[in-house]
Amino acid sequence: MIAVRPSGIPRTVFSEEHTLLRETARRFCEREIAPYHAQWELDGQVSREVWRKAGEAGLLCMALPEEYGGADADFRSSAVFIEELAKINASGPAFSLQSDIVAPYILHYGSDEQKKKWLPRLASGETISAIAMTEPGTGSDLQSITTRAERDGDSYLITGAKTFITNGVLSDLIIVVAKTDPTAGSRGVSLFLVERDMPGFTGAPGLKKLGLHAQDTAEFTMDRVRVPASAVLGELGQGFKMLMSELPQERMSIAVSAVASAEAGLNATIAYTRDREAFGKRVLDFQNTRFTLATLKAQIAMARTFVDRCIELLCEGKLDAATAAMAKLETTELQFRALDACLQLHGGYGYMQEYPIAKAWADARVQRIYGGSNEIMREIVGRTLE
Ligand SMILES: Cc1cc2nc3c(=O)[nH]c(=O)nc-3n(C[C@H](O)[C@H](O)[C@H](O)COP(=O)(O)OP(=O)(O)OC[C@H]3O[C@@H](n4cnc5c(N)ncnc54)[C@H](O)[C@@H]3O)c2cc1C
Repeated sequence: MIAVRPSGIPRTVFSEEHTLLRETARRFCEREIAPYHAQWELDGQVSREVWRKAGEAGLLCMALPEEYGGADADFRSSAVFIEELAKINASGPAFSLQSDIVAPYILHYGSDEQKKKWLPRLASGETISAIAMTEPGTGSDLQSITTRAERDGDSYLITGAKTFITNGVLSDLIIVVAKTDPTAGSRGVSLFLVERDMPGFTGAPGLKKLGLHAQDTAEFTMDRVRVPASAVLGELGQGFKMLMSELPQERMSIAVSAVASAEAGLNATIAYTRDREAFGKRVLDFQNTRFTLATLKAQIAMARTFVDRCIELLCEGKLDAATAAMAKLETTELQFRALDACLQLHGGYGYMQEYPIAKAWADARVQRIYGGSNEIMREIVGRTLE
């Protein structure tokens, strides 16, 4: 891929160490992901091996303390890996879900026993994890979930169905959101660490999606799955509060990938339009092409600067929910707008799967839907207008 002159605003969020890490991540993507991705797309899932390799390379759960197999780093390191994955449109392995969503829940709310048992396995890639909030009947309206966890002696019996779960086929460990007190509203929601091999847990094959073909998204049902009381994550009834406090980081991982993906699409399109000729000149020489790409370049530079500042705030523990929502909202809208315009500039080739822009476009569509839909992001930002 050609080098495109950057925006002129140097990035200050990363250090020398991150530059070295970026090189490791880039090489990992080049050697362990790019050659296999097309096969994973056919399989509908990545290999378990790539998870272990990412663990061996020290690229999983880098923000965990060393005692749990992490690198005592922070979200900046995750951001580096997310960007490198997005640059090659490696949309299959949901590493960030494990590193930046599941592991933090266990680190922040888990008992000593839960941390010792699960965190090292998440960091090594031996265990693959998922988080299951969404149900067939409800996604955005989390308080309306119907999955129920009923106390039965020393255990809980969990019954319900979850859908659209990332890592839904490969995961061994799932954070399940369930109601422990259906009469208590948001205070009746709790989190449970559920293992796939528990009796009563029934998985399903991966769902057929518009994009993200190498990522296993699946539904599953739980029929009186018995989990010990020690599988409750954090305080009983505090699930909703825990989810709300962890969601900004999930939104930032989406925002980081959105900007990197938009930039990768832009670079690929500059390269393509430099080479492609029409009416005796380069497609890049049409004013329409230059204006479209210049606008995107400017918008990506603005988005990147905002996201970088949000990363800093997140690492300082100062990123509020509304600002994270703004980042997720605007970057994913930009990503889709950018990739759609870039695909258009590829002409018919943009519609062909062998061209990365086609896959990137299809993969990007969901970014405006998951992690809290963009309408919900507007709701969150809207609350700050009162
Ligand atoms: C590929 C993929 C991976 C996913 N991974 C996971 C996962 O790992 N774990 C998990 O738990 N979930 C996951 N999801 C689910 C995702 O988070 C939900 O699809 C999303 O939150 C929307 O919920 P829904 O599909 O039920 O849509 P609905 O909530 O039914 O929404 C339908 C439409 O109504 C809009 N809407 C809803 N409420 C409002 C409102 N108050 N104001 C305005 N508009 C509103 C929505 O924005 C949307 O446009 C995934 C989804 C996909 C497609």
